[in-house]
Amino acid sequence: MTNTQIVFWGTRGSYPIASQQTVKVGGRTSCVSIEYDQHLIILDAGTGIIALGDDSRLQKYKEATILLSHVHHDHIMGIPFFKPIFDKEWSLHFYAGVAKPYGGLEEVLKTCFSPPYFPIEWKSFPSSCHYQDFSTNQSFTIQDITVETIALDHPGGACGYRLVLPNAKSIVYLTDTKHNEQSNAEFTKFCQGADLLIYDSTFTDEEFTEHPDWGHSTWREAARLATTANVKCLALFHHNPDHCDQQMEKILIQAQSEFANTILSTDGLEIFLK
Ligand SMILES: [Zn+2]
Ligand SMILES: [Zn+2]
Repeated sequence: MTNTQIVFWGTRGSYPIASQQTVKVGGRTSCVSIEYDQHLIILDAGTGIIALGDDSRLQKYKEATILLSHVHHDHIMGIPFFKPIFDKEWSLHFYAGVAKPYGGLEEVLKTCFSPPYFPIEWKSFPSSCHYQDFSTNQSFTIQDITVETIALDHPGGACGYRLVLPNAKSIVYLTDTKHNEQSNAEFTKFCQGADLLIYDSTFTDEEFTEHPDWGHSTWREAARLATTANVKCLALFHHNPDHCDQQMEKILIQAQSEFANTILSTDGLEIFLK
């Protein structure tokens, strides 16, 4: 049976950090790769994607699909530093469900990564880039992989993904979102029985109460959702840049007491779904 290999390249939210107190968890922003058969799928393109770009595993590929949850800086800032974008033999397929109101994904990336915000023009990258704007809550396929999507509760909108692989394994990626009564029911349905749930665990309960409108959720909500949706494994993700390694360890222990099969995603962590 084909293995599914998942690597967390960047697990921090909001902005990249580096300090003695955060070396264990890491400080790169959101990026997760999924390799299945001949496919390379990348969830978000924060600074974590830069490390993926330097990894020898890329020699196997000349093509990748990049599914963006949304286009806030922490989820796209690695794109112009991802080595394959400078390689004319590479094709990059970008997808987003929230860029249409801003002229579409191509327009958004062009604006962000052209002067005066960036030193060179977006169109001068040698790789061949393709763009797909879809509406959230739609499903589509990437060759033999089914991609289900769900609208998230985040300022400006964000999109969650459920990837269903041909071997029937499923991976859910739900970040940047807050939780509320309506989303609880929708998320539970969307995540039902997933083999892996990667969830926005930015806040503790106290922090959530202080910032209820920042569009992020909590580790406790992650554990609750994992339990009600009966997922097999929960990965805490989009860590608060204010949380040091010690705090993250505490959060993991607390989350495991509510949902035993919880892991802490850390930069460089590699897992397999068999
Ligand atoms: Zn974010
Ligand atoms: Zn965001």
